[in-house]
Amino acid sequence: MFKRLIQREPALDGGEHSQHLIVLRDVKKVYKTDAGDFLALKGIDLTIDKGEFVGIVGKSGSGKSTLVNMITGIDRPSSGEVYMNGTAIHHFNEGQMAKWRGVTMGVVFQFFQLLPTLTVIENVMLPMDFCNMYSWRERQDRAMELLRLVDVETQAHKLPTMISGGQQQRVAIARALANDPPIVVADEPTGNLDSRTAEQVFQLFAGLVAQGKTFLMVTHDDELAERMSRVITITDGELVRDSAPVALEMQES
Ligand code: ADP
Ligand code: MG
Repeated sequence: MFKRLIQREPALDGGEHSQHLIVLRDVKKVYKTDAGDFLALKGIDLTIDKGEFVGIVGKSGSGKSTLVNMITGIDRPSSGEVYMNGTAIHHFNEGQMAKWRGVTMGVVFQFFQLLPTLTVIENVMLPMDFCNMYSWRERQDRAMELLRLVDVETQAHKLPTMISGGQQQRVAIARALANDPPIVVADEPTGNLDSRTAEQVFQLFAGLVAQGKTFLMVTHDDELAERMSRVITITDGELVRDSAPVALEMQES
């Protein structure tokens, strides 16, 4: 069952959704609050293809994280559809979602979210353990290789609290890459980094895109956004601007 979900095969749902890596159709999200229902996403239609480097920009509170959470499956739409490689992830239960996400998607959070009781290298090995990817021996080697890639291998056996914020974010990136996911999603990954570290992280992401990964990144930084292949602007829960829809239409035909 699990294997089936990750195969890049004809869609379970068939049709148009299977042609694209990520498809959102009329996605709405309602948050229940004490003050009543709040419509955080007002019907988002969005298509993303393999190899795109997509920036998501917009004011604070506009719905960027909510949108990203629909794509990662961390949260569910109130209505509408989300397809990945033609698979309807909005129909997954929690267990299916967690396993599927573990091999399909690397997620980098703004505040890193490393497990404080595990060492750096244990944090990076965790997704491999969870999805039972690679042999135990390979897991260690692979985790160390990823820590080397993000230049924190000397910190491997420390606890996250003993290293700097910039280093913690790099560890979080290494963790996101643990299972070599085809898609990486990062919600303001450079928001808490100094500009030099932010640039290094951006370069790392650009390198992953060059290797064929698909990358979505929420950012406040317009200069960074301009360097991505496509920029989507969210305002009050609506997609108000997309720099690349025309190019995509052309790819389809
Ligand atoms: P952004 O990431 O663009 O800053 P968010 O997606 O976090 O925006 O939030 C969009 C809107 O939804 C904001 O008005 C926020 O206050 C509201 N919101 C986000 N999460 C919740 C929640 N769990 N419950 C209620 N309201 C929420
Ligand atoms: Mg946010």
